[in-house]
Amino acid sequence: MPETPVKSFSKLPWVETTIFTKMSRLAKKHNAINLSQGFPDFPSDPVLSDLVTRAMKDGYNQYAPMPGLPELREVIAEKIAATHLVHYDPHTEITITAGATQAIFTAIATFVHPGDEVILLKPAYDCYEPAVALQGGVTVPVQMQAPHYTVNWDEVRSKTGPRTRMLIINTPHNPTGTILSRQDMLELESILKDTDILLLSDEVYEHIIFDGATHESACRFPHLAERALICASFGKTFHNTGWKTGYCVAPAALMDEFRKAHQFAVFCANHPMQKAFADYLKEPSRYLTLPDFYEQKRNRFRELLKDSRFNVLDTRGTYFQLLDYSALSNEKDIDFANKLVQMHGVACIPISVFHENGEDPHLLRFCFAKEDDTLERAASVLQTL
Ligand code: PMP
Ligand code: GLN
Repeated sequence: MPETPVKSFSKLPWVETTIFTKMSRLAKKHNAINLSQGFPDFPSDPVLSDLVTRAMKDGYNQYAPMPGLPELREVIAEKIAATHLVHYDPHTEITITAGATQAIFTAIATFVHPGDEVILLKPAYDCYEPAVALQGGVTVPVQMQAPHYTVNWDEVRSKTGPRTRMLIINTPHNPTGTILSRQDMLELESILKDTDILLLSDEVYEHIIFDGATHESACRFPHLAERALICASFGKTFHNTGWKTGYCVAPAALMDEFRKAHQFAVFCANHPMQKAFADYLKEPSRYLTLPDFYEQKRNRFRELLKDSRFNVLDTRGTYFQLLDYSALSNEKDIDFANKLVQMHGVACIPISVFHENGEDPHLLRFCFAKEDDTLERAASVLQTL
């Protein structure tokens, strides 16, 4: 192809291919155990796959209704009412999306105007900042500090102002495995109450939370719920990240605007998957058993690493475990992670990429959504370092 004469077209000049793609590629190249990108290495429930096949055979193969299959929206409304005692109208307040990524992107595209400020807590999942930049918005970071990664709410308060359009939270939190407590949410509520600031609450790990803790969804707090777009992902809950099905819930006035953008971003999400999830979700035990399932994996992985030279940080939710390698090396986390995959055959995520200005607290993220055998093989390598 001839070289393009246009040199200044990029709206995202600082953005590279995501770390998840890079590390998964390296894992493949070096035939390594891949604990980097967050996805399970075990299949989702065959009952669910059969429901998809049945939906296809039953003719759910053309466009779904733009906001999503009504019966799926109804069962999501029932799930939220049962878990959080909050009522969302399935017709006007819930939209099915092509994964949480599309829900997040659409929420940002819908509400962020050029010059608007969007506050986010760093380290932050990587899809927020480019989406804000594409709308001409400006991100205002609040850095949380390793190893505890608690939020300094006074700093958040001091960074809000007349230009703040949106604040983004993520609980349980990727990549740190922390959760926001009820007290955190009350602090946030006191900051946002009586302002026009919208809240984007990324709750994709809502059902992966440990030690009996409650997931403090933004919908539980009236002055958060009134301004919140809450994004969720079936990929995380039902072990099928490749199906890219999720949803967004928000008060009707916000959802009405969201759908204006959604209809031109994708129009609708995948139809047969929606039908299958609508049937599958009718049995609550299918998501209520998830904390126990992943808590056992977390505990197994931590136990396997307890005699290693890594410092194993706390994990309260998500399927990610942070390991501090300071006792092993002074190298930058990206260099250490590259060496780990190339020389020792285990892939992980260096978390400086999610920090403000690439700050590097020498922490690596490992995904434990894996068969026990995979975790054992990875741990046997990590123990020898
Ligand atoms: N937010 C966070 C915090 C994530 O870890 C992910 C990855 N699943 C997403 C959003 C995107 O979810 P999905 O795969 O449904 O697009
Ligand atoms: N959410 C996944 C993770 O944190 C990555 C998804 C992706 O590759 N975009 O690892």
